[in-house]
Amino acid sequence: MSQKSTKYIFVTGGVASSLGKGIISASLAKLLQARGHSVTIQKLDPYLNVDPGTLNPYEHGECYVTEDGAETDLDLGHYERFLNVATSQANNVTTGRIYQSVISKERKGAYLGKTVQVIPHITNEIKEHVQILGNTGMYEFIVTEIGGTVGDIESLPFIESARQLKWEHPDDVLVIHLTLLPYLATSGEIKTKPTQHSVQKLREYGIQPDILVCRTEREIEQEIKEKIARFCNVSVEAVIESIDAETIYEVPLLMEKEKLDQVVLKMLNIPIVNEPNLTAWKGFLSNLKSPKKTVEIGLVGKYVELKDAYKSIAEAFVHAGASLNCQVELKWIHSESLEENNLEGHLSGLSGILVAPGFGTRGIEGKIKAVKYARENNIPFLGICLGMQVAVIEYARNVLGWEGAHTVEIDPKTSYPVIDMMEEQKNIVKMGGTMRLGAFKCKLKEDSKIFDAYGQKDITERHRHRYEFNSKFRSQFEESGMIATGVNPDNGLVEVVEIPTHRYFVGVQFHPEYKSTVENPHALFKSFITAAVTVKEEKLTMA
Ligand code: GLN
Repeated sequence: MSQKSTKYIFVTGGVASSLGKGIISASLAKLLQARGHSVTIQKLDPYLNVDPGTLNPYEHGECYVTEDGAETDLDLGHYERFLNVATSQANNVTTGRIYQSVISKERKGAYLGKTVQVIPHITNEIKEHVQILGNTGMYEFIVTEIGGTVGDIESLPFIESARQLKWEHPDDVLVIHLTLLPYLATSGEIKTKPTQHSVQKLREYGIQPDILVCRTEREIEQEIKEKIARFCNVSVEAVIESIDAETIYEVPLLMEKEKLDQVVLKMLNIPIVNEPNLTAWKGFLSNLKSPKKTVEIGLVGKYVELKDAYKSIAEAFVHAGASLNCQVELKWIHSESLEENNLEGHLSGLSGILVAPGFGTRGIEGKIKAVKYARENNIPFLGICLGMQVAVIEYARNVLGWEGAHTVEIDPKTSYPVIDMMEEQKNIVKMGGTMRLGAFKCKLKEDSKIFDAYGQKDITERHRHRYEFNSKFRSQFEESGMIATGVNPDNGLVEVVEIPTHRYFVGVQFHPEYKSTVENPHALFKSFITAAVTVKEEKLTMA
């Protein structure tokens, strides 16, 4: 490591939520990484859930899963996609986790009779969690995104902890505040007052931000930057414009243009030695922006009105598509709306069908119908987690003729429990953090689509499920044409199923989407898109 101490950069948000703190944090981290620094990003979430694993996607979008099995905020997905470096349990900390830890220490008597209080006990706990990553010695920079908006009651202890850290280590801590500059069409002006007020609020809490990143629909003039600098007590080069971008992947380049990374390095007294190396990133962006072909793939799920619920899948298509010079147009299909008489209308034009992960009964029969349609019409199919499980159910019902075959998650009394609860899950009563989570090994069978995709036999992929393919029925499936082509070498769990007679029919119990990054698009998504492109091209030659 070239620098003496780890630097901590906090990113707070003001004026409105959803301004894209995660993307700004990831973009800054990318630029620092591209300059040769080691960086990681952390998210502090103000809610009381210990982790988002028990949250419904309607509440909080997708639950992202790390290699070490943490169920985390979807922003960690952005961090990994931008940095191409794995995150871990330590990269996402919620208020719930902090309180859980403080309360369990209190029960053990660890506070030696003291009154346990928000300050110092909760704030100390937060500071420790922030510094866990720094103390590994692996990173020169920790970018810590504080969830919520400044002024919220909930995020106060996090803000207070940032204030204390900055006070304790003035040379090692920076605060970047992300705000919004609204444009008022009636007066034709960009307004700075909300930003001024939000910085005032932060100052009330004892934090003078070092840098302001201002979200705006329109370019901001130097004059506006000067005004913001004057009112908010920051230097004018530390007022950074963040104009709306066509894609999130452009934001690092926009931040580079605004010199966000240089301002950060200067303020932390770190010499600027070279230009950021963004060759791979720029190559990806140029492919993304000028695709040579397009292909339409259907994503069948039950949360399609909420695209964040399938964030990693959508982004995996973006990465893999760009690497193949192909723009994947995702058609979002609500599984509840699929009926026998409208399947043709919804699915016939597609070159590929993906059935998404999920939990519970709602929309499951629609997913099964979508699988049937893909199987019978030789349309490339990829099933992920529940998507793989419904592929097995569909095969059992419609090929093996096992009426009522099901997963015991939905029909515990089915006479054909083709998807059964994993042995290790049977005695679990607590819901949070108890699924089969994180990375597990899988051995692939040569002479399969999945092996062709990965080009190797031994892989590891991340998991998040309680139910599994019931190996009791494996030989009957295999005799009738659905083959287990990937199996966990340690416990024999079936992780991948395929129908070799179909042009491309793959179901995976794991989540390949979590490992797809800009600089490392996922092999399975690439092979699925390639199969879909072939279908489209065949259709075009036939027409
Ligand atoms: N509900 C299924 C299970 O728990 C699938 C989970 C998923 O799709 N992530 O096994």
